[in-house]
Amino acid sequence: MAENGAAQENQVAKHQEVGHKSLLQSDALYQYILETSVYPREPEPMKELRELTAKHPWNLMTTSADEGQFLSMLLKLINAKNTMEIGVYTGYSLLATALALPHDGKILAMDINRENYEIGLPVIQKAGVAHKIDFREGPALPVLDLMVEDKNNHGTYDFIFVDADKDNYINYHKRIIELVKVGGVIGYDNTLWNGSVAAPPDAPMRKYVRYYRDFVLELNKALAADPRIEICMLPVGDGITLCRRIS
Ligand code: SAM
Ligand code: CA
Repeated sequence: MAENGAAQENQVAKHQEVGHKSLLQSDALYQYILETSVYPREPEPMKELRELTAKHPWNLMTTSADEGQFLSMLLKLINAKNTMEIGVYTGYSLLATALALPHDGKILAMDINRENYEIGLPVIQKAGVAHKIDFREGPALPVLDLMVEDKNNHGTYDFIFVDADKDNYINYHKRIIELVKVGGVIGYDNTLWNGSVAAPPDAPMRKYVRYYRDFVLELNKALAADPRIEICMLPVGDGITLCRRIS
């Protein structure tokens, strides 16, 4: 029994090392999902970008393959055409989006770091979907402020994926709620924040996990109390909260 318990603990501990990829409490189950339903159906360009990103020192930031598959399915289910992404990194979720949208679909993609976007760009170009992407280098907030000023932008987005600086999610929400259409969806990523949202405040945590935890907790409360949206928090990847605008 004790040995079994230790082995289980070891597995959980090992799993938490890749906590941003999945919060499932068993490596074996997560591998099963990847190997049975995700990798066999992953489009070749996404596989190429995933493998390219794995060599990058900040690869912990990338969207996991199962979450990429989820986003692709979601975009098709809602017939998304006009979309936005805040936080691109090397572009795995961006490529998933670009492949899922119709030929005339659009993605306004923002990131303060163009260098990392350019790692993935050749793969996106080779996949024939770069024409859907309007990449803006720089902080997203001023761009959103400008967009909100113009009423023509209000209610024009089918889907907005937020995967950038967690301390700004509340500020993003204040703006993008105006930009997404009624019936459209916002996805906030990492809302389970490595599982830390349910940990006691004095639990050991990496410094950056502890720092952003308070912002994620605040966001989660704010979303649950916002009458303009319906929400659904999914334990995919590091947690994604879907918000459907209803008014
Ligand atoms: N969605 C990406 C993917 O699939 O690989 C991962 C995004 S990564 C978790 C977060 C990104 O947000 C980083 O590339 C970072 O440069 C960007 N970022 C941080 N602060 C930002 C800001 N104020 N505005 C726009 N992007 C920002
Ligand atoms: Ca993320």
